[in-house]
Amino acid sequence: MLVNTIVTENVDDAVEYLRAGRLVAFPTETVYGLGADAMNESAVRGVFLVKGRPPSHPLIVHIGDTKYLEVFAKNITNSARILAEKFWPGPLTLVLDKTDQVPEVVTGGQSSVALRFPSHPIARDLLSKFGGGVVGPSANKFGRLSPTQPNDVLSDLGGDIDLVLDGGACTVGIESTIVGFDGNTPLLLRPGMITTEEISSVLSVSVEPAGERAPRVSGSLPSHYAPNTPLILVKPNVLKSEIERRLSKNDRIAVLAFSDLSSFADHLYYVEVSSDAKVYARTLYHELRELDQKKCDAILVEEVPTTNPWSGIRDRLLRAAYR
Ligand code: AMP
Ligand code: MG
Repeated sequence: MLVNTIVTENVDDAVEYLRAGRLVAFPTETVYGLGADAMNESAVRGVFLVKGRPPSHPLIVHIGDTKYLEVFAKNITNSARILAEKFWPGPLTLVLDKTDQVPEVVTGGQSSVALRFPSHPIARDLLSKFGGGVVGPSANKFGRLSPTQPNDVLSDLGGDIDLVLDGGACTVGIESTIVGFDGNTPLLLRPGMITTEEISSVLSVSVEPAGERAPRVSGSLPSHYAPNTPLILVKPNVLKSEIERRLSKNDRIAVLAFSDLSSFADHLYYVEVSSDAKVYARTLYHELRELDQKKCDAILVEEVPTTNPWSGIRDRLLRAAYR
């Protein structure tokens, strides 16, 4: 059923819609979320339906105050409390044992719940006025690029959801770092812009790769976060020769690169990206969306460094490139 999607800056309207069990896209510092009242099972089912997301893929519950930790989670370890204290509000999600109150539809039937207290001022206003938990997977169709601006939400979900709360462009730009625990040992479930180095230094223990100990984590499928155009990662030292090879067979190509490609300007679409990981992450998804619209044969993306600040970005690019 097609609905008339309202775009507004009015937080009170968004709160009213959430209370009525309707779907509201809302800004966070990472990406736009598709919000529904976490305690309203039929609203939460609507989120899965609109996204086309398999029900086994659990949703993050967004809260507007650390005090809600106890409402949604139990057996909270010291390590979890320290991370919440240090990184909330912010782009860190903690996976903890769920309380009985959390509907199973939210957690995909798992006994754990993922919680995040976002820092975006409008998200904070929305969540504190709403006063509970709001599920918020990215406001896009399952497996595609996350939206980082209201127009990105509309192009994916316009007509499917009731309201988009306009909070401008997201400042972090890729999804949160997700951490689970094995006792007090932190496990990395999804890399993001808060790095394992930062987490390890706060806890004085190393964050371990989750490996076999990982619960099912959506966004951990090999292919995810993908544009429609095939995305191909290219090593910096062969970028120019790869461009020349493709142009010589008349491929239409778009390129996202650190290098100056102005010598090719008449023959391809290109975006010169920042060598600062924070700036790169902020604009990545929107730039990929724009390049996707050029309907080229391929989007070539110059590989990013292997150093820690880039690990979340590398992860998303590898999944976007997976075929
Ligand atoms: P997103 O799809 O970006 O909203 O990411 C939400 C992520 O939180 C999911 O991808 C899951 O990886 C993770 N998550 C949510 N709920 C749980 C849970 N109950 N147990 C483990 N991971 C979870
Ligand atoms: Mg997503």
